[in-house]
Amino acid sequence: MEFQNTPKIELHLHLEGAMPPEFARRLADEKNISLEGVFDETGGYAYRDFWHFLEVYEVATQVLTGPEEFARLTKAVLEQSAQHGVVYTEAFISPDFCGGGDVGAWKEYLAAMQQAAAEAEAEHGIKLRGIATPIRHFGPEKAKAAAKCAAETSGDFITGLGIGGDEKAGKLSDFSWSFDCAREAGLQLTAHAGEWGGPESVRDALSLNVERIGHGVRAIEDAELVKELVTRDVTLEVCPGSNVFLGVYPKLADHPLVRLMDAGVNCTVSTDDPPFFHTTMTKEYQDLATVFRFDEQVFLDLNKMAAKAAFCDEDTRAALLKQFT
Ligand SMILES: [Zn+2]
Repeated sequence: MEFQNTPKIELHLHLEGAMPPEFARRLADEKNISLEGVFDETGGYAYRDFWHFLEVYEVATQVLTGPEEFARLTKAVLEQSAQHGVVYTEAFISPDFCGGGDVGAWKEYLAAMQQAAAEAEAEHGIKLRGIATPIRHFGPEKAKAAAKCAAETSGDFITGLGIGGDEKAGKLSDFSWSFDCAREAGLQLTAHAGEWGGPESVRDALSLNVERIGHGVRAIEDAELVKELVTRDVTLEVCPGSNVFLGVYPKLADHPLVRLMDAGVNCTVSTDDPPFFHTTMTKEYQDLATVFRFDEQVFLDLNKMAAKAAFCDEDTRAALLKQFT
């Protein structure tokens, strides 16, 4: 498969959202958990639209009952990513799903995942960093507990705070306490915006002083905002396949990735929730090559951009930049 072995950096991947369907079925069988309505007739995840996707996602995550299950998930996801040439990945990990916001429980989950990540790195050479991620539609109070978990474990594994979930639930500025708390603990910041919400949602994210924005592509609808992203050196975690699959854009040719890049915005490419959106990093590269004629040099530049924007220590960054020169 073309581009499968091309080295890649992925910055926007939800750990639970990357769960292979067969992995979910195996765990559900082991634990006698019903996943009724989660799969379609072909065995993939089934849902009608983005909001139904969020529901199915939460049902599927019921199989992840403890640290051991998250460790197995981490291993399975990293193996899957490594098969597609990913050498460095950052995953959104939610303290809400890992201990319900309790710091002690969260630490146990993290220890199990970090061990699994170390094994995957030894076997496949892939590196993982975690971005602790409150769920937006659970509200600002729950987010505070998640942010405290993140702050307590800020270090060489948990390197960032993000926020995911329903973009239409409340304003991001309502979460400023959580983002301030994380920044003070040395974490870097990203927030989902500009996918379902328009330019105003991207401005809302910028008010949190984030270094990156998850998606952010609808900034293209506002020329002043595009200039602001360039001036502030903000990086977008662009997930073209996810956007097309969920209907943010009718087809890839309509996607603003190239227009954003031409305007000087830092852009990177990721899959978001690959089995849910029937994509992989290889497929993303293939589709971009087909539709926009991206070649090896463009992918090299995108990965260099990703290395610069990665939430990692400077030694790891230098090694990544060396790999992509
Ligand atoms: Zn996402």
